[in-house]
Amino acid sequence: TDLDTADEAVRSTCDDATTCKRYATSKGYWTDPYVQYFVRSVGERKAPEINRGYYARVQGMNHLLDAFLRKTKCDCQIVNLGAGLDTTFWRLKDENLMPRKYFEVDFPMIAARKIHNIKTKPPLSKPLIETHSTDSLLLDGHSLDSDRYCIIGADLRDIPGLDDKLKKFHLNPELPTLFLSECVLVYMTPDQSSKLVNWASVTFHTAMFVNYEQVNMLDRFGQVMIENLQRRQCNLAGVEVCQSLESQKERFLKTGWENADALDMMTVYSVIPQDDVARIERLEFLDEKELLQQLLQHYSICWATKDKLKLGLSQVAF
Ligand code: SAM
Repeated sequence: TDLDTADEAVRSTCDDATTCKRYATSKGYWTDPYVQYFVRSVGERKAPEINRGYYARVQGMNHLLDAFLRKTKCDCQIVNLGAGLDTTFWRLKDENLMPRKYFEVDFPMIAARKIHNIKTKPPLSKPLIETHSTDSLLLDGHSLDSDRYCIIGADLRDIPGLDDKLKKFHLNPELPTLFLSECVLVYMTPDQSSKLVNWASVTFHTAMFVNYEQVNMLDRFGQVMIENLQRRQCNLAGVEVCQSLESQKERFLKTGWENADALDMMTVYSVIPQDDVARIERLEFLDEKELLQQLLQHYSICWATKDKLKLGLSQVAF
Protein backbone atom coordinates (compact mmCIF):
# COMPACT_ATOMS: atom_id res chain seq x y z
CA THR A 1 0.00 0.00 0.00
CA ASP A 2 0.98 3.68 -0.19
CA LEU A 3 1.43 3.76 3.55
CA ASP A 4 3.90 0.87 3.47
CA THR A 5 5.82 2.68 0.72
CA ALA A 6 5.93 5.80 2.86
CA ASP A 7 7.17 3.84 5.90
CA GLU A 8 9.76 2.11 3.74
CA ALA A 9 11.01 5.50 2.51
CA VAL A 10 11.23 6.70 6.11
CA ARG A 11 13.20 3.59 7.10
CA SER A 12 15.62 4.23 4.25
CA THR A 13 16.47 7.64 5.75
CA CYS A 14 18.50 5.83 8.38
CA ASP A 15 20.91 4.68 5.66
CA ASP A 16 21.27 8.27 4.45
CA ALA A 17 22.15 9.47 7.92
CA THR A 18 24.66 6.67 8.48
CA THR A 19 26.22 7.06 5.04
CA CYS A 20 26.72 10.79 5.58
CA LYS A 21 28.18 10.22 9.05
CA ARG A 22 30.48 7.54 7.65
CA TYR A 23 31.70 9.90 4.94
CA ALA A 24 32.24 12.86 7.31
CA THR A 25 34.19 10.71 9.79
CA SER A 26 36.34 9.34 6.95
CA LYS A 27 37.30 12.96 6.23
CA GLY A 28 38.16 13.59 9.88
CA TYR A 29 35.26 15.81 10.94
CA TRP A 30 34.94 13.76 14.11
CA THR A 31 36.00 10.31 15.26
CA ASP A 32 33.71 7.29 15.17
CA PRO A 33 35.46 3.91 15.00
CA TYR A 34 32.13 2.04 14.93
CA VAL A 35 30.12 3.54 12.07
CA GLN A 36 32.23 1.54 9.57
CA TYR A 37 30.62 -1.65 10.87
CA PHE A 38 27.18 -0.40 9.86
CA VAL A 39 28.08 1.00 6.44
CA ARG A 40 31.00 -0.76 4.86
CA SER A 41 32.07 1.61 2.11
CA VAL A 42 32.76 5.31 2.45
CA GLY A 43 30.52 5.95 -0.55
CA GLU A 44 30.18 8.91 -2.86
CA ARG A 45 31.67 12.25 -2.05
CA LYS A 46 29.43 14.59 -0.05
CA ALA A 47 29.59 18.36 -0.40
CA PRO A 48 31.55 20.23 2.31
CA GLU A 49 28.43 22.03 3.57
CA ILE A 50 26.73 18.67 4.12
CA ASN A 51 29.71 17.43 6.13
CA ARG A 52 29.78 20.61 8.21
CA GLY A 53 26.05 20.29 8.78
CA TYR A 54 26.47 16.74 10.08
CA TYR A 55 29.38 17.89 12.21
CA ALA A 56 27.18 20.54 13.86
CA ARG A 57 24.38 18.00 14.31
CA VAL A 58 26.58 15.42 16.02
CA GLN A 59 28.45 17.96 18.17
CA GLY A 60 25.18 19.62 19.17
CA MET A 61 23.46 16.37 20.17
CA ASN A 62 26.57 15.12 22.01
CA HIS A 63 26.91 18.39 23.89
CA LEU A 64 23.43 18.13 25.40
CA LEU A 65 23.71 14.39 25.98
CA ASP A 66 27.02 14.76 27.84
CA ALA A 67 25.64 17.65 29.90
CA PHE A 68 22.72 15.44 30.98
CA LEU A 69 25.10 12.64 31.96
CA ARG A 70 27.10 15.10 34.07
CA LYS A 71 24.00 16.45 35.83
CA THR A 72 22.81 12.93 36.64
CA LYS A 73 26.32 11.53 37.26
CA CYS A 74 25.37 8.75 34.81
CA ASP A 75 22.75 7.52 37.27
CA CYS A 76 20.15 7.66 34.55
CA GLN A 77 18.83 5.97 31.44
CA ILE A 78 18.82 7.11 27.83
CA VAL A 79 16.15 6.32 25.25
CA ASN A 80 17.13 7.00 21.65
CA LEU A 81 13.91 7.19 19.62
CA GLY A 82 14.30 6.33 15.93
CA ALA A 83 17.95 5.53 16.66
CA GLY A 84 18.62 3.91 13.29
CA LEU A 85 22.23 2.74 13.15
CA ASP A 86 23.46 5.34 15.65
CA THR A 87 26.71 4.44 17.46
CA THR A 88 26.37 6.53 20.63
CA PHE A 89 26.24 3.48 22.91
CA TRP A 90 29.80 2.52 21.91
CA ARG A 91 31.11 6.07 22.30
CA LEU A 92 29.72 6.26 25.84
CA LYS A 93 31.24 2.89 26.69
CA ASP A 94 34.66 4.00 25.39
CA GLU A 95 34.46 7.33 27.23
CA ASN A 96 33.35 5.72 30.48
CA LEU A 97 30.12 7.69 30.38
CA MET A 98 27.58 4.90 30.30
CA PRO A 99 24.15 5.49 31.74
CA ARG A 100 22.62 2.68 33.79
CA LYS A 101 20.92 1.50 30.65
CA TYR A 102 20.83 2.71 27.05
CA PHE A 103 17.65 1.95 25.05
CA GLU A 104 17.06 2.30 21.34
CA VAL A 105 13.77 2.13 19.49
CA ASP A 106 13.23 1.89 15.75
CA PHE A 107 10.98 0.02 13.32
CA PRO A 108 11.34 -3.78 13.82
CA MET A 109 13.00 -4.09 10.41
CA ILE A 110 15.74 -1.59 11.33
CA ALA A 111 16.16 -3.07 14.81
CA ALA A 112 16.65 -6.52 13.23
CA ARG A 113 19.28 -5.16 10.86
CA LYS A 114 21.17 -3.47 13.64
CA ILE A 115 21.08 -6.59 15.80
CA HIS A 116 22.37 -8.66 12.90
CA ASN A 117 25.33 -6.28 12.50
CA ILE A 118 26.09 -6.44 16.21
CA LYS A 119 25.89 -10.23 16.24
CA THR A 120 28.28 -10.65 13.34
CA LYS A 121 30.85 -7.93 14.17
CA PRO A 122 33.01 -8.57 17.24
CA PRO A 123 34.05 -4.89 17.68
CA LEU A 124 30.33 -4.17 18.17
CA SER A 125 29.42 -7.19 20.27
CA LYS A 126 32.47 -7.20 22.54
CA PRO A 127 31.65 -3.98 24.47
CA LEU A 128 28.14 -5.27 24.92
CA ILE A 129 29.27 -8.56 26.37
CA GLU A 130 31.83 -6.78 28.56
CA THR A 131 29.12 -4.68 30.16
CA HIS A 132 26.89 -7.67 30.82
CA SER A 133 27.21 -9.62 34.04
CA THR A 134 24.58 -12.35 34.09
CA ASP A 135 23.92 -15.17 31.64
CA SER A 136 20.58 -13.75 30.57
CA LEU A 137 21.70 -11.89 27.46
CA LEU A 138 18.77 -11.87 25.06
CA LEU A 139 19.77 -11.68 21.43
CA ASP A 140 17.10 -12.85 19.04
CA GLY A 141 16.20 -11.52 15.63
CA HIS A 142 14.02 -8.64 16.78
CA SER A 143 15.25 -7.55 20.15
CA LEU A 144 18.45 -7.32 22.07
CA ASP A 145 18.53 -6.98 25.82
CA SER A 146 21.66 -6.87 27.93
CA ASP A 147 22.31 -5.24 31.31
CA ARG A 148 23.30 -1.91 29.79
CA TYR A 149 21.99 -1.87 26.23
CA CYS A 150 18.62 -2.70 24.73
CA ILE A 151 17.27 -2.48 21.19
CA ILE A 152 13.52 -2.58 20.70
CA GLY A 153 11.56 -2.88 17.45
CA ALA A 154 8.45 -0.71 17.76
CA ASP A 155 6.44 1.94 15.94
CA LEU A 156 6.75 5.28 17.73
CA ARG A 157 3.25 6.19 16.56
CA ASP A 158 1.79 3.39 18.67
CA ILE A 159 2.17 4.71 22.22
CA PRO A 160 0.56 1.78 24.13
CA GLY A 161 2.76 -0.67 22.19
CA LEU A 162 5.87 1.42 22.87
CA ASP A 163 5.05 1.75 26.56
CA ASP A 164 4.47 -2.01 26.88
CA LYS A 165 7.76 -2.94 25.22
CA LEU A 166 9.86 -0.43 27.16
CA LYS A 167 8.35 -1.69 30.43
CA LYS A 168 9.00 -5.28 29.41
CA PHE A 169 12.69 -4.36 29.05
CA HIS A 170 12.73 -2.61 32.44
CA LEU A 171 12.71 1.05 31.56
CA ASN A 172 12.42 2.58 35.04
CA PRO A 173 10.09 5.61 35.37
CA GLU A 174 11.78 6.59 38.64
CA LEU A 175 15.20 7.17 37.06
CA PRO A 176 16.22 10.44 35.37
CA THR A 177 15.72 9.76 31.69
CA LEU A 178 17.03 11.38 28.53
CA PHE A 179 15.08 11.04 25.30
CA LEU A 180 16.85 11.67 22.02
CA SER A 181 15.17 12.07 18.64
CA GLU A 182 17.49 13.00 15.80
CA CYS A 183 15.63 13.64 12.53
CA VAL A 184 12.71 11.44 13.56
CA LEU A 185 9.67 13.44 14.70
CA VAL A 186 9.44 15.15 11.31
CA TYR A 187 8.21 11.86 9.83
CA MET A 188 5.13 11.83 12.06
CA THR A 189 2.06 14.03 12.11
CA PRO A 190 2.10 16.89 14.64
CA ASP A 191 -0.53 14.97 16.59
CA GLN A 192 1.57 11.80 16.71
CA SER A 193 4.74 13.56 17.82
CA SER A 194 2.82 15.54 20.44
CA LYS A 195 1.42 12.30 21.84
CA LEU A 196 4.92 10.85 22.01
CA VAL A 197 6.42 13.81 23.88
CA ASN A 198 3.33 13.91 26.10
CA TRP A 199 3.77 10.23 26.96
CA ALA A 200 7.37 10.95 27.95
CA SER A 201 6.39 13.84 30.20
CA VAL A 202 3.55 12.03 31.98
CA THR A 203 5.59 8.84 32.46
CA PHE A 204 8.83 10.36 33.83
CA HIS A 205 9.08 12.96 36.60
CA THR A 206 12.73 13.84 35.93
CA ALA A 207 13.61 13.90 32.26
CA MET A 208 15.06 15.75 29.32
CA PHE A 209 14.03 15.46 25.67
CA VAL A 210 16.42 16.53 22.90
CA ASN A 211 14.96 16.85 19.43
CA TYR A 212 16.89 17.67 16.25
CA GLU A 213 14.95 18.38 13.07
CA GLN A 214 14.11 20.71 10.22
CA VAL A 215 12.79 24.18 11.01
CA ASN A 216 11.88 27.39 9.15
CA MET A 217 10.55 25.40 6.20
CA LEU A 218 8.26 28.08 4.86
CA ASP A 219 10.82 29.98 2.78
CA ARG A 220 12.13 29.01 -0.65
CA PHE A 221 15.06 26.99 0.65
CA GLY A 222 12.72 25.10 2.97
CA GLN A 223 10.35 24.37 0.08
CA VAL A 224 13.21 22.84 -1.90
CA MET A 225 14.14 20.67 1.09
CA ILE A 226 10.54 19.47 1.35
CA GLU A 227 10.34 18.75 -2.38
CA ASN A 228 13.52 16.66 -2.17
CA LEU A 229 12.06 14.57 0.60
CA GLN A 230 8.71 14.28 -1.15
CA ARG A 231 10.37 13.07 -4.30
CA ARG A 232 11.55 10.13 -2.24
CA GLN A 233 7.93 9.57 -1.17
CA CYS A 234 8.70 10.24 2.43
CA ASN A 235 5.74 10.69 4.67
CA LEU A 236 6.37 14.27 5.76
CA ALA A 237 3.29 14.82 7.78
CA GLY A 238 5.24 16.65 10.45
CA VAL A 239 6.78 19.36 8.36
CA GLU A 240 3.96 21.77 9.02
CA VAL A 241 4.93 21.77 12.68
CA CYS A 242 8.54 22.72 11.88
CA GLN A 243 7.75 26.32 11.23
CA SER A 244 9.66 28.15 13.88
CA LEU A 245 11.79 27.74 16.95
CA GLU A 246 8.77 28.95 18.93
CA SER A 247 6.60 26.11 17.65
CA GLN A 248 9.38 23.64 18.46
CA LYS A 249 9.30 24.79 22.09
CA GLU A 250 5.51 24.90 22.19
CA ARG A 251 5.23 21.21 21.34
CA PHE A 252 6.91 20.52 24.69
CA LEU A 253 5.46 23.31 26.79
CA LYS A 254 1.93 22.23 25.79
CA THR A 255 2.55 18.63 26.86
CA GLY A 256 3.70 18.96 30.44
CA TRP A 257 7.40 19.82 30.06
CA GLU A 258 8.52 22.56 32.46
CA ASN A 259 11.23 24.22 30.36
CA ALA A 260 12.06 24.28 26.69
CA ASP A 261 14.79 25.94 24.64
CA ALA A 262 15.51 25.86 20.93
CA LEU A 263 18.35 27.09 18.73
CA ASP A 264 18.83 26.93 15.00
CA MET A 265 21.96 25.10 13.92
CA MET A 266 23.61 28.30 12.66
CA THR A 267 23.59 29.50 16.25
CA VAL A 268 24.73 26.11 17.54
CA TYR A 269 27.59 26.18 15.03
CA SER A 270 28.70 29.54 16.41
CA VAL A 271 28.66 28.49 20.08
CA ILE A 272 30.24 25.03 20.00
CA PRO A 273 34.03 25.02 20.66
CA GLN A 274 35.41 27.33 17.97
CA ASP A 275 38.92 25.87 17.92
CA ASP A 276 37.44 22.59 16.72
CA VAL A 277 35.20 24.42 14.23
CA ALA A 278 38.34 26.12 12.88
CA ARG A 279 39.98 22.70 12.58
CA ILE A 280 37.13 21.16 10.57
CA GLU A 281 36.82 24.25 8.37
CA ARG A 282 40.39 23.59 7.25
CA LEU A 283 39.54 20.02 6.17
CA GLU A 284 37.71 21.00 3.00
CA PHE A 285 37.51 24.27 1.19
CA LEU A 286 34.03 25.77 1.12
CA ASP A 287 33.55 28.49 -1.43
CA GLU A 288 29.98 29.47 -0.75
CA LYS A 289 29.65 30.29 2.92
CA GLU A 290 26.05 31.34 2.33
CA LEU A 291 25.06 27.84 1.35
CA LEU A 292 26.24 26.52 4.71
CA GLN A 293 24.41 29.29 6.55
CA GLN A 294 21.18 28.59 4.73
CA LEU A 295 21.45 24.90 5.43
CA LEU A 296 22.17 25.43 9.12
CA GLN A 297 19.31 27.88 9.49
CA HIS A 298 16.90 25.16 8.39
CA TYR A 299 17.72 22.73 11.18
CA SER A 300 17.31 23.14 14.91
CA ILE A 301 17.87 21.54 18.27
CA CYS A 302 15.13 21.85 20.83
CA TRP A 303 15.51 20.56 24.38
CA ALA A 304 12.95 20.35 27.16
CA THR A 305 13.23 19.35 30.80
CA LYS A 306 11.23 18.47 33.86
CA ASP A 307 13.04 18.07 37.09
CA LYS A 308 11.24 16.78 40.18
CA LEU A 309 14.55 15.58 41.63
CA LYS A 310 15.99 19.09 41.24
CA LEU A 311 19.16 18.01 39.47
CA GLY A 312 19.43 21.37 37.74
CA LEU A 313 18.36 20.05 34.34
CA SER A 314 16.94 23.41 33.32
CA GLN A 315 20.50 24.81 33.38
CA VAL A 316 21.58 22.49 30.57
CA ALA A 317 22.42 24.74 27.63
CA PHE A 318 25.10 25.60 25.10
N1 SAM B 1 18.48 9.03 14.62
C1 SAM B 1 19.31 8.38 13.63
C2 SAM B 1 20.41 9.31 13.19
O1 SAM B 1 20.25 10.52 13.30
O2 SAM B 1 21.45 8.84 12.72
C3 SAM B 1 18.48 7.96 12.41
C4 SAM B 1 17.79 9.09 11.71
S1 SAM B 1 16.83 8.59 10.30
C5 SAM B 1 16.74 10.10 9.42
C6 SAM B 1 15.17 8.43 10.96
C7 SAM B 1 14.95 7.15 11.75
O3 SAM B 1 13.71 7.21 12.43
C8 SAM B 1 14.92 5.92 10.85
O4 SAM B 1 15.78 4.93 11.37
C9 SAM B 1 13.46 5.49 10.92
O5 SAM B 1 13.28 4.10 10.76
C10 SAM B 1 13.05 5.98 12.30
N2 SAM B 1 11.61 6.19 12.42
C11 SAM B 1 10.87 7.11 11.77
N3 SAM B 1 9.56 6.98 12.09
C12 SAM B 1 9.49 5.96 12.98
C13 SAM B 1 8.41 5.32 13.69
N4 SAM B 1 7.16 5.72 13.51
N5 SAM B 1 8.69 4.30 14.50
C14 SAM B 1 9.97 3.88 14.68
N6 SAM B 1 11.03 4.43 14.05
C15 SAM B 1 10.79 5.45 13.21
